[in-house]
Amino acid sequence: VGNQKCPFCGIASGQEQANLVYDDGRVMAFLPLQLAAYGHVLVVPKEHHETLWDLDEELLTDLMSASKTLTERFRERLGATGFNILHASGADAQQSVPHFHLHLLPRFPFDGIDAWPPLAALNVDRETLSERLRG
Ligand SMILES: [Zn+2]
Repeated sequence: VGNQKCPFCGIASGQEQANLVYDDGRVMAFLPLQLAAYGHVLVVPKEHHETLWDLDEELLTDLMSASKTLTERFRERLGATGFNILHASGADAQQSVPHFHLHLLPRFPFDGIDAWPPLAALNVDRETLSERLRG
């Protein structure tokens, strides 16, 4: 089952090696190849889904619940004083691996990480934009 060429499906099926830190049957978490912070993990559904648009509510709940558990471990076991959750859906959002994942980055005092770089401010008609987005 799963996408043959997908590295995360390979990890889910046990064909690819990974430093697993969490597995509840539907969601797993493991260390990425390149750690951007001490304790950086990827939280991933074991089934292949590409983006947030492709997830049902139940799986989304499982992913957030697993993320919460892991952030508790950051605090209790690593002494983290905060964390970031980073995500990209879609190639235009710089998604690298097309299998849904959340980056969890534990944060520590003076760790020197900028996980929230400044973005240029956009000048737009705020009223029109709000109208387009309102439910
Ligand atoms: Zn996959």
